Amino acid sequence: FAKEKGRNRLAFFSKELQEQVNIKKEIAEQLRGAMQRDELVLHYQPIIATHSNEIIAVEALLRWNNELLGDLAPNVFIPIAEEIGIITKIGDWVLAQACQQNKTWQQQGYPCIVMTINMSVMQLAISNYATTVSSSLTETNLDPQYLELEFTENTLMKDAKKSIVQLRELSALGVSIALDDFGTGYSSIKHLAKFKLNKLKIDGSFIKNIPESAGDIIATRAIIALAKQLKLHVTAEGVETAKQCEFMMTNNVDSMQGYHFSRPVAAKAFEQLLQSPSWQ
Ligand code: C2E
Ligand code: MG
Ligand code: MG
Ligand code: MG
Repeated sequence: FAKEKGRNRLAFFSKELQEQVNIKKEIAEQLRGAMQRDELVLHYQPIIATHSNEIIAVEALLRWNNELLGDLAPNVFIPIAEEIGIITKIGDWVLAQACQQNKTWQQQGYPCIVMTINMSVMQLAISNYATTVSSSLTETNLDPQYLELEFTENTLMKDAKKSIVQLRELSALGVSIALDDFGTGYSSIKHLAKFKLNKLKIDGSFIKNIPESAGDIIATRAIIALAKQLKLHVTAEGVETAKQCEFMMTNNVDSMQGYHFSRPVAAKAFEQLLQSPSWQ
């Protein structure tokens, strides 16, 4: 009886596993045609200066709507795009699109803000990636000071030596470099000073339980102090409440991003925020 039960359970597990494999295959299949079918779009989330309450930057976040699969989260499809090797193509599109959009907003007379985009580990692996970035800037005629590239600790630590060189080249272009999701990856405090960085983004998981969690308050303050020591601009991600916003102000965080201000929105809706921010 026990044997039979075990076998059934195994059959159940492998069926589930098979389904997962099939879904992944389907996502990969659809993803290959997503760019040609114009299914990718960028949404934009404002980043607000703590001292002025004004939008100083915007993060471009990739969205994918597929006819068969519906809306898929980047946390789901980006790892698959990396696995099947098309993230570099998608990344090139994101870069070009983000530069173009920021230039368009400038031409329309909106105040100049920094456009920040997320980088995959595979983009950093491309030698001379700086030339790709440089071309996008030239093609769109965007001043490099209005572009920022975000890397996670894990991305940079995959090949730390190479990352140091790549970041130096990218930085030489005049773009800004941010360390994303700080505190969640492989600890790289030892390496932090070696990387050419301008900004540190505290991961939302630290912010989520402020002010309830004494531990997260201590960790957040420590990260802020570390950023100040390294002379880095510090951004808090995932600010959802007025209390969290207040905490960031009293603890000298430079800028904030999160649902308290706005969710990531389509370009048109973002223009509304530029005209009349809902939090002011
Ligand atoms: P990320 O770069 O850390 O982006 C922040 C994520 O937190 C976004 O999720 C954003 O929608 C979400 N978020 C913002 N404010 C709040 C808040 O107040 N509360 C909560 N709970 N969440 C908040 P999203 O858009 O689902 O993106 C997830 C991740 O996917 C990003 O994390 C980034 O690592 C990756 N990603 C997104 N777009 C791209 C892209 O174009 N290229 C690459 N390589 N990765 C991307
Ligand atoms: Mg990011
Ligand atoms: Mg992040
Ligand atoms: Mg993240």
